[in-house]
Amino acid sequence: MAIEYVIINFLILAGIIVLFCRKTIVRLFRDRRQNILRQLEQAEQWEKMEPPTLSEAHFDQPAVGYQEEIAAEQAIAQTKLEQIHAFGHRECNEIHRIMVEKTKRQFFAQIKQAVADVFLTEPYHTKIREKEAALVDKILSMIHLTPGDMAYLKRHNVLYVTLTSAFELDPALVQKVDEATTQLLNTVGGKTSLWVLQDPAFIGGLRLRIGDTVYDGTVSEQLYHYEQSINNQPVTPEEAATEVLAEFSQKAAEFTPMIRVYQLGRVMQISDGICWMDGLADIMYGEVVEFECGESGMVLDIQPDRIGCVVFGEYENIESGSRVRRVGRIAAVPVGNSLLGRVVDAVGNPVDGDGPLYVDETRPIECGAPAILNRSPVSRPLHTGLKAIDALVPIGRGQRELIIGDRQTGKTAIAIDAIINQKGKNTVCIYVAIGQKETSIAEVRERLVQHGAMDYTIIVAANASGSAATQYIAPFSGTAMAEHFMYAGQDVLIIYDDLSKHAVAYRELSLLLHRPSGREAYPGDIFYLHSRLLERSAQLSPECGGGSITALPIIETLAGDISAYIPTNVISITDGQIFLESELFHEGQRPAINVGLSVSRVGGAAQTKLMKQMASSLRTKLAQYRELSDFTQLGSEIDEVTKKALDDGARLMEALKQGRYQPLADWKQALLLFAVSEGYAKSVELTEMPLFEKELYARFEQEYPSLVAILRSGKKVEVDGLNDLRAALSALFVRN
Ligand code: ATP
Ligand code: MG
Repeated sequence: MAIEYVIINFLILAGIIVLFCRKTIVRLFRDRRQNILRQLEQAEQWEKMEPPTLSEAHFDQPAVGYQEEIAAEQAIAQTKLEQIHAFGHRECNEIHRIMVEKTKRQFFAQIKQAVADVFLTEPYHTKIREKEAALVDKILSMIHLTPGDMAYLKRHNVLYVTLTSAFELDPALVQKVDEATTQLLNTVGGKTSLWVLQDPAFIGGLRLRIGDTVYDGTVSEQLYHYEQSINNQPVTPEEAATEVLAEFSQKAAEFTPMIRVYQLGRVMQISDGICWMDGLADIMYGEVVEFECGESGMVLDIQPDRIGCVVFGEYENIESGSRVRRVGRIAAVPVGNSLLGRVVDAVGNPVDGDGPLYVDETRPIECGAPAILNRSPVSRPLHTGLKAIDALVPIGRGQRELIIGDRQTGKTAIAIDAIINQKGKNTVCIYVAIGQKETSIAEVRERLVQHGAMDYTIIVAANASGSAATQYIAPFSGTAMAEHFMYAGQDVLIIYDDLSKHAVAYRELSLLLHRPSGREAYPGDIFYLHSRLLERSAQLSPECGGGSITALPIIETLAGDISAYIPTNVISITDGQIFLESELFHEGQRPAINVGLSVSRVGGAAQTKLMKQMASSLRTKLAQYRELSDFTQLGSEIDEVTKKALDDGARLMEALKQGRYQPLADWKQALLLFAVSEGYAKSVELTEMPLFEKELYARFEQEYPSLVAILRSGKKVEVDGLNDLRAALSALFVRN
């Protein structure tokens, strides 16, 4: 019965369908028939047509040999794929070539793609998936709560846990992770919430994130580490490529990702080179963070709910909401002999176009100053080769002597002359240019090269066009480079040109970091900033190697105002100052040193006995001259004694004049000062003084080599020696 009903129903239904869809069915069949007829017609027409000419064939049909070409290309692609899978030798060469031709970043993108391809094919895919269970076990044996997590728990009572894998995970594994993390949180009375995600960008393996801490066992993380290690290695790109490939050709078959533990955060806001982030629990002040785009930054502000950092590179590339990770070290720069003769930026990257820099070592830019017990008093001289400085404000190794003056008063000139004078004296020089024009830095380099001084000099350039962050760290980077040599027992001369611009850069950063501003809008810790920088210059004790850093910071004043905030700060930190005056400079007294305001608090102990003897009365004589000349400007009547004193003073002042790039040996300086103070230059016209000076040195070298030898020894000249000197001078010049 039932079957009959079904059949009857079916027939009724079929009847209804045919009734309603009749037209459509007819149209379908008609269209199909017409189509077939048309194709038959076309085929008939083609049969009747002439064979096509070559030019037409080029467009319509494959030309002769084309098929072969495709086949050949396919064959190449096939072998390439095989090579990638095997990471064979030929593929090495191919990636080698890519590495040389393209940047490292592009190279690593290609490597990543190649590795991803490998892990998507068998047998590697199965192998990497088989390791997931072991990875979970390993990660769970490592998980713990960091102080940052505890602090977060205290505030929110819940910690988010995310389990992300390249492929879909076995539910049993997820369950295992959930139980373990819940148990971990239960021990401290907190709650957890597990999120399970999938991200093919990981290539293989999995990653567990508890709070801000990440336990990363993915292939992509492994590749990231290769990239990092290659970037920091003193190897050529060719060597780097070979190394990566050797590593991966080994690992492709038996690949076990290592588990790396690091902390992540998120970019909240980015503007003016300052980035605000959240997450990154346990971050330290001064630590380096790395952004997703590859730029790096340094943490300068830690608040309960956000972290502020300065960005070193192009901050425009950083996106709000992007990931940022802790690198686990504080900011460091490359150090060592390979830097000599190079111009590097504030983070130690070469900027002189002389090729890459292969560093042997790095050193943190911020570092404690040597302890008191590790220091020795300043006792050895550092000759600048400038008469006015070596005689009046002598500098000792390990001293901090400030060069201060208005703009365009020859501050940089003094520093450069001091560097040039270190030639052959086994002293490493570091010139830190802060906020200067690139042309000025190029000129300094050019001059140093001309005088053969670049071989022992490093230029750290934080240009005016660079960010405030790079200008802020440049002197610290320079000091780190200097410390490397000091702790190795060498002498270093470091010049900070100039710290006023450094203070301005730090003020800019501090204001952007919303720190309260103090006097002249500088932040309250500006004194600490400069004192911790300059305290690192020292003379180490013989037990610590006896190395030294002599610092010549430069400060620019406004209209000679040395009582402004930054000048007074740095004056009080340093062991003396060389004060340069615009008025003297324009009068032609160059170097334009104001003898009254310039002082060296510790350098006297380091002066050679000879110089001390010859320059002993110089300061008083010059002070007398200055007072008298000020006084006589008012009155017209001058007695003979005053006239003589004025004449003597003028001659001394003339003798202290010195051109640029002409540093003088110590004995020459001493001889000149002796000759002038003993009155052998009295009959010389003031304009003739340079000639007198030249003749003095030349004739002494020629005619009195034994006296020159006494002077060269740097020892105090006894009475007999002085008499010999006088006799020699009398024979050469008329004494009045
Ligand atoms: P800025 O404030 O711009 O940094 P500065 O104080 O560092 O200037 P310099 O650049 O060293 O000054 O010198 C300014 C000018 O004075 C330069 O043109 C330089 O050649 C000249 N000059 C400096 N010292 C001497 C000197 N001893 N003899 C002759 N010219 C000099
Ligand atoms: Mg200058």
